[in-house]
Amino acid sequence: MELIRRWRELTEKLDQASVKLLAVSKYAPDDAVQMLIDAGQSDFGESRAQQLRDRAMRWPHCAWHMIGPVQKNKAKYIGRHASMWHSCENLETAQVVARYVKERSSEQSDAVSPLPVLIQVNIADVPAQHGIRPAAVPGFAADLMKIDGLKLAGLMCMAPKGGDAAQAFQALSSLRETLLNGCFADVGSLALCMGMSGDYEVAIGEGATMVRLGSTLFGGWDVRHQDV
Ligand SMILES: *Cc1c(COP(=O)(O)O)cnc(C)c1O
Repeated sequence: MELIRRWRELTEKLDQASVKLLAVSKYAPDDAVQMLIDAGQSDFGESRAQQLRDRAMRWPHCAWHMIGPVQKNKAKYIGRHASMWHSCENLETAQVVARYVKERSSEQSDAVSPLPVLIQVNIADVPAQHGIRPAAVPGFAADLMKIDGLKLAGLMCMAPKGGDAAQAFQALSSLRETLLNGCFADVGSLALCMGMSGDYEVAIGEGATMVRLGSTLFGGWDVRHQDV
């Protein structure tokens, strides 16, 4: 079982660094997801809202993280089914997601348990990349914290294509410090979700608390690499 062997190696390495593994299953078939669940993996990342919904309904005991761009008309799937939303970059969409989070809580007839949200940061400030510009993050975070049903839980970024990953991850880490030393001291802790298959070791070196791994974990199971 190559998949399970890779998963064991990766989790061992990540556990030593106290870093959480998000298994990015967006291109992986259900069989591969099931194998990882059987092995003990609990957190999965999806980039399409409907697939997240389908898998969250099929495997409700796992945590399903939304890591892709969210259109307002798909926001209900995130509000209803996501355990964490990593790619928040728009307040209007956030309002809609929050509405469905509150609905979910009232159906379960308990107090509203807010959805943890990470702000996606366009850390290298590259035009046309997803995410909030670094300078705008404190203001965005303040607005986000006013939305009932959501809870600011950290920052997420992708290294710029062809750019300096270490520099980008350092910048996200110091942005978190800025927030924690500023008006956000009372949020407690803020996750740093950064690092993918090609740069997760760099990200861990810069203080990542969570990495998002797809191809290096799923390998040949990843449908992008079926010919490997
Ligand atoms: C697909 C994806 C990943 C995983 O990418 P790999 O390079 O396959 O590990 C991580 N983060 C986001 C936002 C993604 O869309």
